[in-house]
Amino acid sequence: MEVFLSTLFADADAEYADAGYVIFGAPYDGTSSYRAGSRDAPGAIRAVSYNFETYLPAPGIDLADVAVCDLGDLEVLSLPDLVVDQVRETAAMIVQDGKVPVLIGGEHTVTPGVVAAVKPACYVVCDAHLDLRDEFGGTKWNHACATRRVMDLGVEDIFVVGARSGTAEEFELVGESDRLHMYTADDIADHGIAAVIREIKEIIGDRSLYLSIDADAVDCCLTPGLGTPEPFGITTRDLRSVVRAFAARASGFDYVEVCPVDAGQTAAVAAKLIREFIAWHAAGIEGL
Ligand code: MN
Ligand code: MN
Repeated sequence: MEVFLSTLFADADAEYADAGYVIFGAPYDGTSSYRAGSRDAPGAIRAVSYNFETYLPAPGIDLADVAVCDLGDLEVLSLPDLVVDQVRETAAMIVQDGKVPVLIGGEHTVTPGVVAAVKPACYVVCDAHLDLRDEFGGTKWNHACATRRVMDLGVEDIFVVGARSGTAEEFELVGESDRLHMYTADDIADHGIAAVIREIKEIIGDRSLYLSIDADAVDCCLTPGLGTPEPFGITTRDLRSVVRAFAARASGFDYVEVCPVDAGQTAAVAAKLIREFIAWHAAGIEGL
């Protein structure tokens, strides 16, 4: 029987028992409000991951030397609350076994499942959207509610990087809550991503954190393969700076909301940044 390694993320060929990092996909787009299709993201991201060299020069890490396992994709159910349960159970196993979970979405709905398993003190999310609605489309588990559900988990501080879209009520909630810290895409254009990262690091101090990347944080004119594209966003380089800055201290990571209907550039950025996350975490070096 042949082994089809190309179905796995590139260089993620370690056995589960040996791995320090465990990738799994949650190809769920059941609550997508504009353009569905993020169910195809894990496959597209894995495919393009073979484009890259195993060696990453900036952290000085060869991913061929890092024990990474790819479990493949969850066979996701239809109802979003049940999918979150599936993700939480898988992530809890990974965390209990002392490994770092790396989730590929799917839409942002799936993220609170991993956060519930990791139980970080702080949550850093790059997203065009505040995702602070309490309910949308008849469910509290819509992707437009992802950050609100993370709030419910009792995370102490939440940092939204690249925000530029939400209801008046969501922006009011940011203003009222001491736990919510918003850095808009305009803030980052005005002050630079380095200043924003420095401020977030000061607030976090030595507490634990989780890093979630919603692909639409990036300007949709740069990476148009998105379920809910928003222009005037951050750059792919800004996003890489965030991953490099926080990877070493993050207890878990996800990359969600890629909808691979473009020429492949959005999945390419995702695959590269998943590789950057693992390499900078493995190196134990904080960028910036
Ligand atoms: Mn989101
Ligand atoms: Mn978003």
